[in-house]
Amino acid sequence: MEKAQSQDAAVASSDSSALKMSWLRICDRLKSEVGDVEYRMWIQRITLGALEDDEITLYLPERFLRDWVRAQYGQRLQSLWREENPAVQHVELRIDKKAQRAAAIDDLPQVSSDSSSISTIASEDAAALEREEAAVATPTSVSEVRNDLAVPLDRRFTFDNFVVGKPNEFAYACAGRVADHPASPGFNPLFLYGGVGLGKTHLMHAIGLKLIERGNISVAYMSAEKFMYRFIASMQSKSQMEFKEQLRSVDVLMIDDLQFLIGKNSTQEEFFHTFNALVDAGRQIIVSADKSPSDLSGLEDRLRTRLGCGMVADIHATTFELRISILEAKAKASGTPVPPKVLEYLAHKITTNVRELEGALNRLIAHADLVGRPVTLESTQDVLKDMLKAHERRVTIDEIQRKVAEHFNIRLTDMSSARRARAVARPRQIAMYLAKQLTSRSLPEIGRKFGNRDHTTVMHAVNRISELMEQDPGLAESVELLRHMLES
Ligand code: ADP
Ligand code: MG
Repeated sequence: MEKAQSQDAAVASSDSSALKMSWLRICDRLKSEVGDVEYRMWIQRITLGALEDDEITLYLPERFLRDWVRAQYGQRLQSLWREENPAVQHVELRIDKKAQRAAAIDDLPQVSSDSSSISTIASEDAAALEREEAAVATPTSVSEVRNDLAVPLDRRFTFDNFVVGKPNEFAYACAGRVADHPASPGFNPLFLYGGVGLGKTHLMHAIGLKLIERGNISVAYMSAEKFMYRFIASMQSKSQMEFKEQLRSVDVLMIDDLQFLIGKNSTQEEFFHTFNALVDAGRQIIVSADKSPSDLSGLEDRLRTRLGCGMVADIHATTFELRISILEAKAKASGTPVPPKVLEYLAHKITTNVRELEGALNRLIAHADLVGRPVTLESTQDVLKDMLKAHERRVTIDEIQRKVAEHFNIRLTDMSSARRARAVARPRQIAMYLAKQLTSRSLPEIGRKFGNRDHTTVMHAVNRISELMEQDPGLAESVELLRHMLES
């Protein structure tokens, strides 16, 4: 009787949602036991696998992570699982490269509750990881250092494939200079910084590829995260000396996304010593980060100071022109014709991140190839519906009123005043029209924002401006210009 009951329990609790709940509770307990930092570093990298018989499988993305977790937390994981769920008797820890993707998503900083921005970061992480994996797996990558320290470089990220425009020309020039004359005075370290997806990693790989092409030079490229893992793994396996020697034997060391080291003091310290040893020996260091050295608060001062001692180059946000050039280049390389209108549309809609721009274009091209129909503006809007929604900028009525008032040189208060002179009334109608077009506010809501006007007044304004735009190209142009400014 008792046996039958416990079997029932085992069956009931082995379905996947029950397992997930168990796992969440175990994670919570571990978090309170080991503390936030360790939790994030190790436990959060675990992904839950399936229960088979009485064995639950947990995955980690890398061997040394798996070994570390097994050594440090293996016993505890097992006893927590047994307590939590009697169906589980054993815990098996396995390696699964793909588990990293899930971990990376969980690992996001809890700064934003805006789900759209979270998924953006997550997909970026995933993209970067995919790239890393692809680079490892495909013959297009090159392994530049004999030891396993570095990540291979991606052959696609060359100087030739990098589209240069105002926002990135300085960084591009600095990168080119370092590739041609590594470790020259004034350029060591080279510190590249800028927002996500603006080409930092691309430029670093381009430098590495160019240097290797010329031969006889050892280049190590890795993310700061990788640097930390390798460092910790070397301590664990008591091979610190080997790790240090490997690092100090390269001619060029590139560390990507240095901001990751914020708050990781012992890794920072190790990096600082490596940095000094290499620079003193006349080797080149290249670092990227999302902020300038002076803005990277949380890095040790002495490291920050040294990072700012060479060349600091900023990659600015893309301009419309640069986005168009990038899209043109990528469309051309793909061989699939993409109408200029579509490129303009994309460049207009996706403004922050080249990676996403590229992703959107690739999706369009893949779709067109698949269904055997050319890319058109309509198919673009359809294929990218979800993606574009996330990019829709939320324009407020206040913003619209301000911009329109500025544009027509009238007072902001006239947006809600009772004045009926054409010079004020027309711009007010344009602002109402734009409010209807660019926001999701209802007509009565818009009316209220314009000095408590009635919704029929707003409707009239919307119709009137639509009509006028057809008759008067000058007015149409003004409205389009305003819309453009408000949306970008
Ligand atoms: P970051 O490291 O700054 O986050 P990446 O270097 O990974 O950004 O760039 C993201 C993607 O956008 C890559 O596929 C890269 O090739 C592409 N990209 C970025 N800037 C350019 C550019 N100026 N020309 C061509 N491709 C670019
Ligand atoms: Mg990068």
